Amino acid sequence: MKILEDIDFLTEDNANRSNIKLLSKMIESDNVSHAYLFYGNDAELLYRLALDFAASVSCPQKGCGNCVVCRNVVKGVYPNVLIIEPEGNILRIEEIARLQKFMGLSSYIPGKKICIIREAELMNQEAGSRLLKTLEDPPDGDSIFLLLTEDISVVLPTVVSRCLVYNWNFKFDEDARGKADFEVMDKYLDEGIKSILRGGRRGTPAVAIDLTLRVIEILKKMEAAVKTDLEKDFFELKRSDFEKSDINKYMEILKSKHKRKISKFHNLGISRVFDIISAWLEDILAVKLGAGRESLNFSNNFSFIGKYAGDVRIEKIFELIETVEGNRGYLNYSINSELALDNIFLQFQNIYTDKR
Ligand SMILES: [Zn+2]
Repeated sequence: MKILEDIDFLTEDNANRSNIKLLSKMIESDNVSHAYLFYGNDAELLYRLALDFAASVSCPQKGCGNCVVCRNVVKGVYPNVLIIEPEGNILRIEEIARLQKFMGLSSYIPGKKICIIREAELMNQEAGSRLLKTLEDPPDGDSIFLLLTEDISVVLPTVVSRCLVYNWNFKFDEDARGKADFEVMDKYLDEGIKSILRGGRRGTPAVAIDLTLRVIEILKKMEAAVKTDLEKDFFELKRSDFEKSDINKYMEILKSKHKRKISKFHNLGISRVFDIISAWLEDILAVKLGAGRESLNFSNNFSFIGKYAGDVRIEKIFELIETVEGNRGYLNYSINSELALDNIFLQFQNIYTDKR
């Protein structure tokens, strides 16, 4: 399998599939364009994707994934591939000068010279115009520019218009800090669901409401950590020796970047809550239908479910699964997640009874 067709961090949607198809076709027919702009919701994954693309262009077998060329490009240490990245929160004009110099030289080894520009939205006007000149008049037919950005709306339009633009959708990638917070949330959630089940028919809505509040509290804590990062970035920016107008522009860019990050975290958190609830519901169903411990999502809970879920009503479980999936569909439309969770937990509370 070719390296581009084997990427595991893209979502399975038509846009991604057709992007991969188009790019593979260009590579197979030696018809690679001289400038691309990739944009998508994760800078780190955009970069990995760009390296896979660069490897496919450079590899004698067009992206085998195994040869020394592929392996070095993917590691970011291939002499024909130059990586340009911002220093702190600014992509400096010195970096663009470095790019021009690299592109002006004849390549070290036969093949295309590829320049990957990470976080292209962090170029200021000066750096952008300088890059534009090179894009308009590339030194030779062997140059390929690959610009990456999370936010295409703040890249200079004149630069965008010179590039073939591809939009990508990535699977979410939690960072290590997020992971620890998520684990705390998983624990709360697990305990909360257990106490609802223990309460059974006599449970009170207080448990469900308390559970919503706790989940929201943990999500807020995670969002606060992202905000602290923003303040740190602002502080650094203010100490820099840039023009005031540039600083203001960067602040706007940083704000939109952090906003995206927060909403990504929030959606990730809520969808994880939904995953856990669904897994519990599936397990309750499985136990009621006589399945064994090994077929559960959480095999440890086999006897717990057996003990407490005896008089759960199956049709209520089906209804609740439907509610969870329905709300999942709205996640990207910024519904009020607090309300959605309240509703779901209260419905969970009622799986024993006929009441609505
Ligand atoms: Zn290869």
